[in-house]
Amino acid sequence: MKLPFVFAKRFVAGEEFSSSVPAAKQLNQAHHQLTLDLLGENVSSRSQADHNVKAYVDVLKGIEQHKLLSGISIKLTMLGLDIDVEYCADNLFTLMEHARTQNQFVRIDMEGSAYTELTLDLFKRAHAEYGAQHVGTVIQAMLHRSKEDIAELADLGADIRLVKGAYKESRSRAFQQMSDIREAFNAYAEVLINNTSFPRFGTHDDQLIRAVRSYLADYDIPYSRVEFQMLYGLREQGLMDLNRLGYPTRVYVPFGTDWFPYFSRRLAERKENIWFVISTLFKR
Ligand SMILES: Cc1cc2nc3c(=O)[nH]c(=O)nc-3n(C[C@H](O)[C@H](O)[C@H](O)COP(=O)(O)OP(=O)(O)OC[C@H]3O[C@@H](n4cnc5c(N)ncnc54)[C@H](O)[C@@H]3O)c2cc1C
Repeated sequence: MKLPFVFAKRFVAGEEFSSSVPAAKQLNQAHHQLTLDLLGENVSSRSQADHNVKAYVDVLKGIEQHKLLSGISIKLTMLGLDIDVEYCADNLFTLMEHARTQNQFVRIDMEGSAYTELTLDLFKRAHAEYGAQHVGTVIQAMLHRSKEDIAELADLGADIRLVKGAYKESRSRAFQQMSDIREAFNAYAEVLINNTSFPRFGTHDDQLIRAVRSYLADYDIPYSRVEFQMLYGLREQGLMDLNRLGYPTRVYVPFGTDWFPYFSRRLAERKENIWFVISTLFKR
């Protein structure tokens, strides 16, 4: 049984691109940049993956048409990574060609650790062809391997969004304690600040935001050198405050009918999010 969209609307801007445009425009007017994310993951048929590529090309066109200040985020399993790696690479490059022609930006989101190596391989191929102005990816601080990945990607001058990691991972692959994840995040944030031109930090966690801010202050690094990113529907005031202080800010705006996995991760992350959902049900 599919839950009605009313459950998700706190975290998901709309079921269609067109119904998400008003929320996107409002966020742009509040001086936030955007990352539009067409929800979906783990497709198993080529027809569905082909359909997703077309849908994303339409999103790129829609961004231009509505003059939104927005890039897009994609998940490679939505472009057929589970079907065949080279087929997925072709789909990624098709999308990248459109992004380059329209001077737009594609971020490859990071999924569970079974996909990390493949995702980084395809990212590096895209980065070599299209450069940091058109493509970036995500590193999850919780994964043990991220120490090496961050060093390698920083060397490449890659455009990185650093996050904690949203997927449940085993002890052998990832830190399990929040204190360890935060320590890793802070260490990688410093590597990115020192070695890349514009690192992005995707977190709602004040401890991490404070640590980045103090590091910038300690080394006299301008606010404009980093970007703080948050998810649609979460900590709006916190992001607004950062924006007013002069930090570049960005909201990750998911939309689409396939919202259930994304929605479930948000509920699993934080019990307070359940109250957001319940309160949304009673709001007209
Ligand atoms: C822009 C963006 C993009 C992302 N992309 C990816 C990706 O590609 N791959 C991936 O695996 N994960 C991604 N994530 C998810 C990320 O990995 C975390 O799972 C998620 O952000 C939760 O961790 P957190 O640091 O935000 O805070 P949490 O660990 O959820 O919370 C830590 C503390 O932060 C504060 N806090 C958190 N939320 C709130 C709130 N709503 N209101 C008030 N205080 C709050 C509280 O003090 C809380 O105790 C992304 C996150 C963001 C923001």
